[in-house]
Amino acid sequence: MTKKVTDSISSYRLFEGITNLSTSSIWEEAKKEWRLDHVEMAEDHEVAENKYVCLCGHPHLKELCFIINDFNGNETMVGNHCVKNFMGNIKSDPLFQAIRQKKLNKALIDYAREHRMITDREYSFLLDVFRKRKRSSKQSAWYESLKGKILLTVGGKI
Ligand SMILES: [Zn+2]
Repeated sequence: MTKKVTDSISSYRLFEGITNLSTSSIWEEAKKEWRLDHVEMAEDHEVAENKYVCLCGHPHLKELCFIINDFNGNETMVGNHCVKNFMGNIKSDPLFQAIRQKKLNKALIDYAREHRMITDREYSFLLDVFRKRKRSSKQSAWYESLKGKILLTVGGKI
């Protein structure tokens, strides 16, 4: 099959999967019912074992987006490549970028606070120092421990 054909089959599977789990059967309405609950980077062995398959049929997923439908409580998981196709302004790309690079960025720091991985005080500290090249040894130690905690929680390596 050509890439164009497989792409349209994937799009249809995603459309069907999402609308089946939504209240509305109209695509434009159904996709608005969903919000991102959390992201996770699958481990290498989970990718190899094909533990996660996207709703569109794409196998061996690494960048996972767990989403929730607020209208009926349904939950499902799609790959980062697909989530952007139907959740307009989702900020999953910078999250996965940070996880891949083992770094913190504004998106991941905000995400960590929203998901209560860090306190307000830790959040202010991270915002203050994450762009700084020079940190005191005390700042560095605190920064590295928070970074480790956040990255491990989202399935990243440290
Ligand atoms: Zn997909």
